[in-house]
Amino acid sequence: DKQYVGFATLPNQVHRKSVKKGFDFTLMVAGESGLGKSTLVNSLFLTDLYKDRKLLNAEERINQTVEITKHTVDIEEKGVKLKLTIVDTPGFGDAVNNNECWKPITDYVDQQFEQYFRDESGLNRKNILDNRVHCCLYFIPPFGHGLRPVDVEFMKALHEKVNIIPLISKADCLTPNEVKKLKGRVRDEIEHFGIKVYQFPECDSDEEEEFKQMDKELKECTPFAVIGSNTVVEARGQRVRGRLYPWGIVEVENQSHCDFVKLRNMLIRSHMHDLKDVTCDVHYENYRANCIQEMTR
Ligand code: GDP
Ligand code: MG
Repeated sequence: DKQYVGFATLPNQVHRKSVKKGFDFTLMVAGESGLGKSTLVNSLFLTDLYKDRKLLNAEERINQTVEITKHTVDIEEKGVKLKLTIVDTPGFGDAVNNNECWKPITDYVDQQFEQYFRDESGLNRKNILDNRVHCCLYFIPPFGHGLRPVDVEFMKALHEKVNIIPLISKADCLTPNEVKKLKGRVRDEIEHFGIKVYQFPECDSDEEEEFKQMDKELKECTPFAVIGSNTVVEARGQRVRGRLYPWGIVEVENQSHCDFVKLRNMLIRSHMHDLKDVTCDVHYENYRANCIQEMTR
């Protein structure tokens, strides 16, 4: 039996017209190497996006600098097509000196805006390739006591350019109590340092109760604590994605084990279109206004 990730509900988020053309979405993952970025992406989209990558040995890994890679896959579910682009930023935070390690990443985001701006002012405006980054999943290590200086700097360098969704990675390394504490800590620090992460849109008063409830849960849940896995294990007679430990199994899609399902539903089923809107109407508009100001100065 085929598993679905659930973006067939996308047409409900937008006009039917887009259905034939298909949807596109660009997701960036960032954070220190080894925090499970690639694994989570594969778990989210049930596909091996990295199957062609060459395996690096330990030494190469350490020497790896920030290098940006792009993988694109076309997925189709129940007749709905999604062109998904993953922008990976491997090696971030690995260098001894992390000074301005976010620079290549902010440059990348800016370059996509610049390209779009140029195309938009050009003659062939009908067929613009939109490579703007719609969302950045930022991985926070589970082992610290909150945000590190590098996390704060990274998010502050990017928060005016892209929708940041902070995640607590490898949540299976923590007890539920520790997860709760770390979440509270990270939320406080995000506020304290003035970091602007993606804000879930306010519900209209006439929206259904069920929707409001979901929205409240999402807000309370951030930063999402996630677990990724590329292996299928047997749990309660079913084959599921999970991690096998001597003391038991943690299931990626079990809501009492982590927030993976909440994150996936939000990203794919309920908020994909809003993430694109905010990218276009807020982040890109800021960029564009700045450009025009520069030119007319
Ligand atoms: P990346 O460098 O951030 O892309 O990290 P990878 O996805 O390559 O994962 C690095 C290592 O961490 C691999 O051995 C994964 O199996 C492991 N890993 C990935 N996700 C998790 C997780 O949620 N929990 C635990 N315990 N290990 C994980
Ligand atoms: Mg990786």
